[in-house]
Formats: sequence, structure tokens, C-alpha cells
Amino acid sequence: MATHVHDHQHAHDQHAHDQHAHGSELSETQLRVRALETVLTEKGYIDPAALDLIIEAYETKVGPHNGARVIARAWSDPTFKRALLEDASKAVRTMGHESRVGDHLVAVENTPQLHNIVVCTLCSCYPWEVLGLPPVWYKSAPYRSRAVKDPRGVLSDFGVKLPNETQIRVWESTAETRFLVLPMRPGGTEGWSEERLAQLVTRDCMIGTGLPKSAQEIA
Ligand code: FE
Repeated sequence: MATHVHDHQHAHDQHAHDQHAHGSELSETQLRVRALETVLTEKGYIDPAALDLIIEAYETKVGPHNGARVIARAWSDPTFKRALLEDASKAVRTMGHESRVGDHLVAVENTPQLHNIVVCTLCSCYPWEVLGLPPVWYKSAPYRSRAVKDPRGVLSDFGVKLPNETQIRVWESTAETRFLVLPMRPGGTEGWSEERLAQLVTRDCMIGTGLPKSAQEIA
């Protein structure tokens, strides 16, 4: 434990040094987080090495590329798609993406008649295991309030124009239940591999504020 503390503190000093070398000061939040971490470490509540592993996982391993592979598989494998819509937590687990204990992931399918969009009106609940960390706008007050009151307006702000007859359904993400939007597979992608299909899947199209890229965009 003592060595961990030492190594970690050293890493922090190094980091602080780098920050100064680039002429930027730490923000107030960063300073407060650091002070809190130091206190909790000294009191033995947390292990900095474990914290480092969690942070590294979210920075490098967990991200929207995981969700993109899930969507690409659903587009190419009807059995997987059925399993995903039936129980998304279970289906993504078969691909190695583990939900946190108690989390329940629900996949909602876009069709020509129905477009799904996800919001957490209270805070920032988000399916981390498949999408990584939520974007800043997802946590913003304007998105959280407007997505419910005027989803079509929000979509238009994001550059998404849907036919007037397409219904929009807003899903409220909570601490227990998270949503993953299954977008419609773009045309002109017949016979594409899962890897190639995954390149069409943007983070925003899995939240419902965007559409997948078109076949031409990545050709
Ligand atoms: Fe939340």
C-alpha cells in the first residue's frame, strides 16, 4: 500500500509538472479531486492503483467503438438482433461488455415510423459499457430539458431531419435502466462485413441525436 501511495503521488507530481511546463494551471475541480483522493488514500479508504486501473479502462477500453460493434452485429445477424432487443444486457455480455451490477440495458429499434432518442433529465445516466463516457452536451441542462419538451427541435439542432410522419419516442435513462438506440442500417451496405458496418455507427446515432453515416461517407 505504501509503495502504491508513493508511486501514485510521484505520477501526480510528474503530471503537475507537465501541466506547468505547458503553461496551464489545474482547474479548481482537478485540485479538489486531487486533494480528496490524497485524503482518502492516506486514510486507507481507496487504493490509487485500483483507481488508476478504472480510469485507464474508461480512457482506453470503454468507448463508443464497443456499441458500434454491437450495432453492426445486430445489422448482420438476425438472431443476435432478436437477442439484443429481447435482453440487451445479456446480449452485450456475450460480446464481452459487462454491465455494472444492477444495471439494465435496453435496446430500442429505429424504424421508418419511429425514431428513438435517449436523455437523462435528472443527471447523466448513460450506458457506459457500450458508449463510454457521456458527451458534455448530454449532461447539459438545455439538452436534458429540451429533449423531452421539443425532441424534434433538438434533432434539428443536431442536423437530423426526419420525415414529418416519423414518430419520435423519448426514453428516460435512469440509474437502473440505460438505453441503446439501434439505428436503421444504411442502404447500399449489402454484404458488408461487421467491421465495415461498425465504421458507419456514430456515438450520436446510438443516443438518437444522430443518424449513422451513409455508405458513401466511408467508401
Ligand atoms: Fe442520470
